Amino acid sequence: MSGENEVVELCRDLIRIDTSNPGDDSGPGERVAAEYVAAKLAEVGVESRILESRHKRASVVARIEGTDPGRDALLLHGHLDVVPAEPGDWRVHPFSGEVEDGCVWGRGAVDMKNMDAMILAVMRDRLRSGRRPSRDVVLMFTADEEAGGGLGARWLVENHREHFDGCTEAIGEVGGFSVSLDERRRLYLIETAEKGIAWLKLTATGRAGHGSMINNENAVTELAAAMARIGRYEWPIRMTKTVRTFLDEVSAALGVELDPDDLEATVAKLGPMARLIGATLRNTTNPTMLESGYKVNVVPQTATGHVDGRYLPGYEDEFFKQLDELLGPNVTREFVVHDIALETDFDGPIVQAMTTALLEEDPDGRAVPYCLSGGTDLKSFNALGIRGFGFAPLKLPADLDFSGMFHGIDERIPVESLQFGTRVLDRFLDLA
Ligand SMILES: [Zn+2]
Repeated sequence: MSGENEVVELCRDLIRIDTSNPGDDSGPGERVAAEYVAAKLAEVGVESRILESRHKRASVVARIEGTDPGRDALLLHGHLDVVPAEPGDWRVHPFSGEVEDGCVWGRGAVDMKNMDAMILAVMRDRLRSGRRPSRDVVLMFTADEEAGGGLGARWLVENHREHFDGCTEAIGEVGGFSVSLDERRRLYLIETAEKGIAWLKLTATGRAGHGSMINNENAVTELAAAMARIGRYEWPIRMTKTVRTFLDEVSAALGVELDPDDLEATVAKLGPMARLIGATLRNTTNPTMLESGYKVNVVPQTATGHVDGRYLPGYEDEFFKQLDELLGPNVTREFVVHDIALETDFDGPIVQAMTTALLEEDPDGRAVPYCLSGGTDLKSFNALGIRGFGFAPLKLPADLDFSGMFHGIDERIPVESLQFGTRVLDRFLDLA
């Protein structure tokens, strides 16, 4: 069976294995999915290892020797966990893997059992037909990405570095998918950058007392004021090299002038694509949680709040300097999660390989770099000096709200998109 034919079954099987990750250890874990992947690799003669960071929190690693031992290794990675799903909200059961209306439905169809299945389908097909890639390919199917990777990618980097030997480049989520310019032409967004993460807990400490008295050291007032300043602050537009290249490419594709120095006007010309890049033009801070007090006539001693902050590559210092000004003198901050921003150039042989593989399958496509406003396992792999890209290639119908399906309901992926992606990845491995 060719990879193109097999990919749908692999994706359905993976969706049917519930790997919900609620962020603590209360979920089912990735062990069953890891065993499934290991068995599929064993069928084509690939010996893999299942590594558990904790009971049932399993990742799979394998190495396929290339034909040219002189070359650096390439890391192909996908996470096995998914965010939880509430079956009552869905048109089909989220763990059924049903095929309806030409799509595979279920939690993980988009994020990211689709890519797991594509990687498996391509490697199985190539090994059955004796087509080894020229570079060593390291496969990693990770646990815990949806909770930051502490029990998956990060744990592998810290405890099993030996499996990354020789890896200089990586491909995984979130990129390679198409965005339609019109009925004929598509952009393929390859992720070359990620914003950094600053999830913050803010604390104001004041003077507790009776709610009927004058209190000018009220912790709730201080915290609320700081949260409002942070939430309302308009972060200035900052042009990263990724966004600059993105705009150059889009400008060429659309045949319109986009002036990078007048970004407001430029974004207005981008239409529906503006939503994709809006958050990658500036740092952002969104207040998300507030906790304080226990009775209406008691002024509490402290008030706490949480803020989801994201900073652009190259703008971390500016982010914290400005944030501290907005906090003011009476509110302190600590990290709940702090992770790096990433950025790499959109050039070199591996970018050429991705671009060529895409264009061979979709001659009306154009590959462009973009910055992801979220984070992936790449942040962990970056600690080993691995240069990573989001490249899970998918040719999508123009009317599919793809980005809205990450962690959304009725997550689904067209069968044709999975088959397209499998062909592109296969070509990519010939070229990479
Ligand atoms: Zn994901």
